[in-house]
Amino acid sequence: MFKLPEITYPLTIDTIGKMLATGTEMSATCLNTGCNQSSRVNLVALAKRIGSNHSNMAGDLQKFFFCPNCRAAGRNDKRVGFIHHALTADHSQWPRERQIERAKVWRVKS
Ligand SMILES: [Zn+2]
Repeated sequence: MFKLPEITYPLTIDTIGKMLATGTEMSATCLNTGCNQSSRVNLVALAKRIGSNHSNMAGDLQKFFFCPNCRAAGRNDKRVGFIHHALTADHSQWPRERQIERAKVWRVKS
């Protein structure tokens, strides 16, 4: 495991650890025209690999990412951009809303 950084003010969310500590999420998007490949970044796995004190700025992270679609097509696969946004995944939903969503999925399957 790794230690999350202490949050100090004025707040600057400039490392992966601070993103985790403040509940911020990040997605990686391919910048090549017409590709539209986008996926959510697992910040815990990224922090374990490169350290929670590593910068979360695009220029510092691009060397760790590539676009699999563009690599397979022989295009430049290193044109990756990053979007930081509030945590909106399932695990951040209120319990009642999450229960309703799971009930919908169950009805579709059965
Ligand atoms: Zn791409």
